[in-house]
Amino acid sequence: MYFKLNHAEQELKSVFECWVSGTRSYCVSQLSGGGGTGRGNQDYLKAQQLFLERLAMAGMKILKVALVSGRNETPPYDDSRELDLTRLPNQDDVRAFRIAVNRLAKNVGRDASKPGGSRTKKLLYEVRWPGDAKLLEGHVLKALNFVVAEPSQDDLKYKALGDYLEAQDDEVVVLPIHRIAGLVGGLPKSARSAQFWANAQNHHWSRRKQWLLRGFEAFWESKESQVRFIRAEQPTDDPTLLSARIEYEREQIRAKKGRRTPPSGSRKPRKVRSVVYRYERSASIVAWVLEQARGSCEGCLNVGPFIDDKREHYLEVHHIRTLAEGGPDTVDNAAALCPACHRELHYGLERDVQRTRLLNQIERLVDHPCRTQE
Ligand SMILES: [Zn+2]
Ligand SMILES: [Zn+2]
Repeated sequence: MYFKLNHAEQELKSVFECWVSGTRSYCVSQLSGGGGTGRGNQDYLKAQQLFLERLAMAGMKILKVALVSGRNETPPYDDSRELDLTRLPNQDDVRAFRIAVNRLAKNVGRDASKPGGSRTKKLLYEVRWPGDAKLLEGHVLKALNFVVAEPSQDDLKYKALGDYLEAQDDEVVVLPIHRIAGLVGGLPKSARSAQFWANAQNHHWSRRKQWLLRGFEAFWESKESQVRFIRAEQPTDDPTLLSARIEYEREQIRAKKGRRTPPSGSRKPRKVRSVVYRYERSASIVAWVLEQARGSCEGCLNVGPFIDDKREHYLEVHHIRTLAEGGPDTVDNAAALCPACHRELHYGLERDVQRTRLLNQIERLVDHPCRTQE
């Protein structure tokens, strides 16, 4: 459950999450409003102060303060993220305690290589009721004057839409505005506009991320009063997935007969670390095959299509039985090919015909058996 603090009849812009940990302690973590600048940040500190004041007034004792990353993270936390309470002033001096907590938190788990503290830190307080009494959630909420967070918090409100989209298999999901309103519990008047459903990340990100992060783009269709969610391209580093998607995208473009505007792409593609298994190849085999080809493709017999940066007619060496199929890295399994012939042997519709043709055409080649490894 998410909660906000009520203060002078007003909810502060900071969401707390609370749960009972074990039987006698209670966990409260302050989720949002931190980081950033401006009003949100002001509310975060104000909420933190109020929360600590109310804890002290109710006589609740703070057992632990830790930095957590995920929601609902439960103890034990690793030592590096638990603040050393012995270094903090007594919690009854709320202001001093709060300042000390934040100062300490700033430096915990800090990556020395990066300037500044992390902005995504969340503080979790493990608290205990006075006299070790068994905790009842109602007591805690009342003592702290917590109110159940209204679903007006965009993050929580629009999650239902995101979850719905994620569960769909279709590439296009069309939802009438009243359906969406039903899903998220009411929409503002402004929802009947293209602006509301714009796919920009800057404003109202908490709403937009519900479809953008799940791989959809939204399009408001005013005539029908509906929103068309189209599965947008999620960049991938998986070549098989990528080639499947390219095929799908091309079908889409053809089906719409060029009505599509050019895709926006990405100005800064993400870099991912990946593990690739490569076969070791012998330089002497490549060199020998290239040398005896003397600049001409052993497939089409044409001279290599351009002069490369080594001042050679450019050719590539292909394994007739691929190494992945258990083929050997030997001259009787390798041919020098121009890029066109080479690509055809990998991706051509007639690649098997071309392979047989090569085996017949080049005397030294042997048709090695396929031994696909598991
Ligand atoms: Zn060729
Ligand atoms: Zn090849």
